[in-house]
Amino acid sequence: MTASLHPDTVAVHGGRSDLAGLGVHALPIDLSTTNPLPDIERGGDSYEAMATGGRPPADGSMVYARLWNPTVARFEEALAELEHAQAAVAFASGMAAMTAVILAHTGATGARHVVAVRPLYGGTDHLLGSGLLGVETTYCHPDEVALSLRPDTGLVVVETPANPTLDIADIADIVRQAGAVPVVVDNTFATPVLQNPIDLGAAMSLHSATKYLGGHGDVIAGVVACGEHTAEALRRVRAVTGGLLHPLGAYLLHRGLTTLPVRVRHQQESARRIVQWLIDRPEVAEVFYPGLDDDPRGILERQMRGTGAMIAMRMRGGFAAASTVTSATRLFTHAVSLGGVDSLIQHPAALTHRPVPPEARPAADVLRLSIGLEDVDDLIADLAQAFAAAAGDADAGHSEPVTPSASALRGAVRS
Ligand SMILES: *Cc1c(COP(=O)(O)O)cnc(C)c1O
Repeated sequence: MTASLHPDTVAVHGGRSDLAGLGVHALPIDLSTTNPLPDIERGGDSYEAMATGGRPPADGSMVYARLWNPTVARFEEALAELEHAQAAVAFASGMAAMTAVILAHTGATGARHVVAVRPLYGGTDHLLGSGLLGVETTYCHPDEVALSLRPDTGLVVVETPANPTLDIADIADIVRQAGAVPVVVDNTFATPVLQNPIDLGAAMSLHSATKYLGGHGDVIAGVVACGEHTAEALRRVRAVTGGLLHPLGAYLLHRGLTTLPVRVRHQQESARRIVQWLIDRPEVAEVFYPGLDDDPRGILERQMRGTGAMIAMRMRGGFAAASTVTSATRLFTHAVSLGGVDSLIQHPAALTHRPVPPEARPAADVLRLSIGLEDVDDLIADLAQAFAAAAGDADAGHSEPVTPSASALRGAVRS
């Protein structure tokens, strides 16, 4: 597709260039696990090409679905175009994608060290610190990336806006500090609608496609947009380790991309209204949302086209108020995940960031909101009645609710 098309157009038409030739209009779903081989020689050559990360040769075969699937490949082509990347590689989940990125840049390459800018999604923080993949990780502040590099550093990991408190890191500055070391940006919260890390020098833009890209809460998936050389390394890891995206999931994601720009912009508009409302509420001690600090270093201005639809807030009534609010909302579902058409509320310290060590875990009074497509006044009314329920609880002396997570949170209570 030509580079001059608006992203909204790419979202609708990307990855569909072969459909007219196939005589179809909607995306075909190819469920084949195996594919006919033209002859042994060309079959073997095809296998060899794909097992080492390449694409199926024109006169060859796709051989086996762990190596290649055309439904997945169409989604990858569309996402790559939206991310201004040469290629994209899709995986079974965001964590499978992050695992492949780490494996492709350590181990066999000789590198065994990763620099990770905090805060990060709890699962990523945990994966990097767990030792499961045989890498050592130095966690740091965005300004300490250069200081944290070692001769055996193979990768720099950063997430911006970061889960859950929407911290913003300067992508171009981190790329500069990283020098020759490739940088992967977790772009899940921003989506390609609001931010394109590759334009800022990042080697890879990673998504938990489970969130905004799918957008309807019915697919678990991950995807990495990158250059063709990196894509070969990632496809090789995927072919060998098998963290595949199923074609039905790829179909749903590809269809989800068509409405991504409209969803993100509408959800963002509602989020901004809700942020303005939250700021004035006495029940809320602090609101976390990009730009509320007036962007003193001009980072948002340089790297984002909008501030998104994720909000975090600290409840003045502490963990007790946070706990009551999560069980009192009616439209906001109390659930992890984010980025779908319906609004969600969750407590990061107990759930999404539970595996993070206490010193880096979000505070116990923090709640995270994912704003959906419901009417914004209905959402505000729902929060208002949940806040009233929390205030009622506190008045009635029920300010220390016993919940299964309360004991686990002792280490998380900070300032
Ligand atoms: C959810 C999430 C992930 C993990 O993705 P899964 O699809 O759940 O494996 C990674 N990064 C961020 C920012 C996330 O929100």
